[in-house]
Amino acid sequence: MYPRMGRIIGGACLCLLLAAPGFASDSESVLVVSIDALHPAALSAKTTPTLSALMQQGQYTLNGRSVDPPKTLIAHTAMLTGLAPQQNGKVDNDWKPGDPRVTHSTLFDTAKQRGFRTAFYYAKPKLGYLVGPAVDEHAWEADDGVARASAFFRGKGRRFVFLHISGLEYAGAESGWLSPDYLAELSDIDTTLAALFEQVRQRGTYAVVVTSDHAGHERQHGTSDPEDFKLPLILISNADRVPRLSPEPWPVTNLRGLVQTLLPPAE
Ligand SMILES: [Zn+2]
Repeated sequence: MYPRMGRIIGGACLCLLLAAPGFASDSESVLVVSIDALHPAALSAKTTPTLSALMQQGQYTLNGRSVDPPKTLIAHTAMLTGLAPQQNGKVDNDWKPGDPRVTHSTLFDTAKQRGFRTAFYYAKPKLGYLVGPAVDEHAWEADDGVARASAFFRGKGRRFVFLHISGLEYAGAESGWLSPDYLAELSDIDTTLAALFEQVRQRGTYAVVVTSDHAGHERQHGTSDPEDFKLPLILISNADRVPRLSPEPWPVTNLRGLVQTLLPPAE
């Protein structure tokens, strides 16, 4: 869909173009953040000034759609494999250490093939299902995933992080989706992310994607209510070739394909 320059022109010419003034390099830092249970209607300049700034400077859609049923592990497996639950086989929402892990290739495999060191920090143990051989560093971090991601990005070279952040699903279950408590929790998450985004942008050529696995309604999620399927997607990058987000509804299974277009070829 977005052919890379090396495929359009001959390799002999590529070096000249790379040396030309103004030719920015491909992304060296790729950060994907999944804020669990984020309802797109919760995003606003007042509640989420950090994310709203990314939306203003980059691209976004509030028209994302989760898998059916819209549940955490099922949705994240669809994001990372790019396959619907019926295709990837992960149709239940459970996993515990010792159980079989994902067997399909994931976004981590692609990043690894493109020369990235990869990290996966997740706030719920069940997401350990998605730790495959292409994940260089991983940790179940209920609260410190942002700090771990920041430490990882202090290393050199191409770095890819998938960071899962928890909290909204608990605020939603206790106080309701879009309730004051829910929005206060989201404000805290937004504040915590600001320094990480700035760090990634300071590393050079970067791509940042922020999305979610599902939303909820009243004090419930994971049901067939249309609200539960909603999710946002924000994309910002200073790389040369950034795909344009379609105004069409955004299926969460598209995440892998989108991020792959942001990853440069192997060095
Ligand atoms: Zn979730």
